[in-house]
Amino acid sequence: MSLIVQKYGGTSVGDAERIRNVARRVASTKEQGHEVVVTVSAMGKATDELVDLARSVTAQPDPREMDVLLSTGELVSSALLSMALRDLGVLSVSLTGQQAGIRTDATHGKARISQIDTGRMQQELDDGKVVIVAGFQGITDEMNVSTLGRGGSDTTAVALAAALEAERCEVYTDVEGIYTADPRVVPDAVKLAEISYEEMLELASYGAKMHPRSIELAAVYGVPVLVASSLVDAPGTLIHGGAEMEVRNKVAGVAYDTNVAKVTLLGVADRPGIAATIFEPLAEVGISVDTIVQNASVDRLTDLTFTVARSDLTRALGVVRDIAKDAGAREVASSDNMAKVSIVGTGMQNAPGYASRMFRALFDAGINIEMITTSEIRITCLVSEDQVKDATRALHRAFELETE
Ligand code: ASP
Ligand code: MG
Repeated sequence: MSLIVQKYGGTSVGDAERIRNVARRVASTKEQGHEVVVTVSAMGKATDELVDLARSVTAQPDPREMDVLLSTGELVSSALLSMALRDLGVLSVSLTGQQAGIRTDATHGKARISQIDTGRMQQELDDGKVVIVAGFQGITDEMNVSTLGRGGSDTTAVALAAALEAERCEVYTDVEGIYTADPRVVPDAVKLAEISYEEMLELASYGAKMHPRSIELAAVYGVPVLVASSLVDAPGTLIHGGAEMEVRNKVAGVAYDTNVAKVTLLGVADRPGIAATIFEPLAEVGISVDTIVQNASVDRLTDLTFTVARSDLTRALGVVRDIAKDAGAREVASSDNMAKVSIVGTGMQNAPGYASRMFRALFDAGINIEMITTSEIRITCLVSEDQVKDATRALHRAFELETE
């Protein structure tokens, strides 16, 4: 019998009616003859509310206790779903992360799954039950509850699929799949039938919704992931690593991200070791630096610009101002109204012309490019935030993605 892992997001289990709807969908998968393991997010905005509650008690909630608190959201939805299934006459059992054997490291709030002991789940499946696992959580070696970070239920789902050697992982949400761009910004964005892990990874980190770690995991273990709607019956998008991806010579999508800020150190001394002096302390406090540009020096002085997540800007400036003197910088400037726009596609590898077409399209739309970075399958331009939606639309048009 083939095993399918399904994940339902917060909106899909947002109220009693929707939970019953999910139960019907799970029941029909089971009726088709599959074994089913389900993982759920917390209902609606439950996790946000728990975060607010913690903050109303203390400005700095203890990380261990925060995880105990946040893990409860998924316990509620998994227990309710199991009740709804039993009401339909389907045998089921809800399990906490710990009961499901999900072991993690001890980084509270951002824990990583180290191992899954599938014994208990296997036993429940052998008893003919649907197994419902509370998403986004596990247990540390010290037997403390841990959570995987916001949005982490996607990662739970893929990890379960990998550990149980499921046929595939199905992620149900309130949108119908992965689009060529954010449909709220580009009205004629098109739903993709399929996408490669690499492309999805780039799109996930740039706005389209899925926990990036879940895609990395899916790629490593070769788990096909179907993203589809739990509310309408439509085909969805299959994320996989299939061979037919190689021959596609296209941009898969346009992504944008507004969580970007820029820091510039002016008049930095151009001598060996300066970059290390600046970036080591940032790494030490866990700030990840994205695009870095160092200008050619004039009179042994250079300007160095880099971007960080906007949410890290204050901390980054704190660190950089402290070390600016050691680096001989004249001034530290920053701006937090930046955004990134990217074109993504495996088809761009070793194919010329994509970058120039992108720059031309942005120029024609009157958009100034501040910085440029590329990976093998992505070209990203830093633009001003108030132009990023226009930029997204212009690129969608330039690469004719509406005809996908
Ligand atoms: N409930 C958690 C969150 O809101 C995890 C998830 O939904 O994936 O971040
Ligand atoms: Mg999510």
